[in-house]
Amino acid sequence: MSLANIQKKKILVTGGAGFIGSHLCERLLAAGNDVLCIDNFFTGQKANVAHLLANPHFEIQRHDVTFPLYVEVDEIYNLACPASPIHYQHDPVQTTKTSVHGAINMLGLAKRVGAKIFQASTSEVYGDPSVHPQPEEYWGNVNPIGFRSCYDEGKRCAETLFFDYHRQHGTRIKVGRIFNTYGPNMHPNDGRVVSNFIVQALMGQPITIYGDGKQTRSFCYVDDLVEAFIRLMGTDDSVTGPINLGNPGEFTMIELAEAVIRLTGSRSELVYKPLPSDDPRQRKPDIAKAKQVLDWEPRIPLEEGLTSTIAYFDRVLTEAGVTRQI
Ligand code: NAD
Ligand code: UDP
Ligand code: UDP
Repeated sequence: MSLANIQKKKILVTGGAGFIGSHLCERLLAAGNDVLCIDNFFTGQKANVAHLLANPHFEIQRHDVTFPLYVEVDEIYNLACPASPIHYQHDPVQTTKTSVHGAINMLGLAKRVGAKIFQASTSEVYGDPSVHPQPEEYWGNVNPIGFRSCYDEGKRCAETLFFDYHRQHGTRIKVGRIFNTYGPNMHPNDGRVVSNFIVQALMGQPITIYGDGKQTRSFCYVDDLVEAFIRLMGTDDSVTGPINLGNPGEFTMIELAEAVIRLTGSRSELVYKPLPSDDPRQRKPDIAKAKQVLDWEPRIPLEEGLTSTIAYFDRVLTEAGVTRQI
């Protein structure tokens, strides 16, 4: 065996057939690693990784992270968890199990094999934040018994587990708190705002604004986010996070809808629907820590990222034979 093969890393990506996971698998393979993708295909799609299947360094297994997994790897990226409110609220008990049992199993695996492990945490740990923008030191404002709690509290408990495995067992952890991310490979029925607006605009359907549309979010393009994952994993063992990963550009949902209409040339109108319960009023990351520790900040502005994402959905809808209105 050549030295190059000995140095090649074996990397596990859970949730690797999902939106962000599929981009991460691609990026890790391009860097010369062996990648094992595991996914239960709840919200992920084989189509997202179909182009990687011919690569001898890529392997995919159907597996649910709530069950133990015995494999030998050097690094783990734990992304398995539905991320869209409509999907994580579909079976909320399974969502909490995925975050909590999934974290225990992946941490148990990391402990046994001595792997470094990254956790895809979320800005949702801040709940409906009363501090704006949100720094990592803010403990959050989360309803423990609402419809979003299965996701928010599941992810908060996962963070607790990561830090307890680190303190109790010396496990090497990297916790990234991801803010709203968008891009190609989102499912057309994902249900999150960027995919909904683009699909609606392309199909000439009304664009559904929940509430008054004045709530804000900060949208990060997926390539920028994956770069941050790789940089965080590459830090020395003293860096554990949590560290905010997102784009600080802040937009109202009406501004997002107007940008999508402008970039698609759609004639769709805005329609107003009820605001889901506990929907955060505002969200914007303080990324001072990511800038300092990772020397990272997002590069792709919203309009540029939306343009690539629109082109992706345009192709997907065309391939599916969906009648387009523009
Ligand atoms: P996604 O729904 O596209 O991907 C999640 C993947 O996990 C899917 O492939 C799904 O099938 C898989 N999965 C779900 N439950 C599983 C289980 N029990 N066992 C194995 N696989 C399972 O969502 P995404 O946007 O790619 O999110 C990836 C990760 O990043 C999630 O952990 C999510 O919570 C986190 N995150 C995403 C965002 C965002 O804006 N996209 C923001 C914050 C955090
Ligand atoms: N585990 C796993 N793969 C491994 C090692 C452990 O899935 O390679 C799971 C195992 O199911 C266990 C969990 O991780 O329940 C936590 O493991 P740990 O060693 O921390 O705890 P224990 O086995 O003592 O419960
Ligand atoms: N939203 C909307 N129309 C939609 C989907 C979502 O106005 O068709 C709103 C939603 O109420 C929230 C924001 O867009 O205020 C972001 O929602 P998303 O589900 O994308 O993510 P999250 O709420 O988890 O940040």
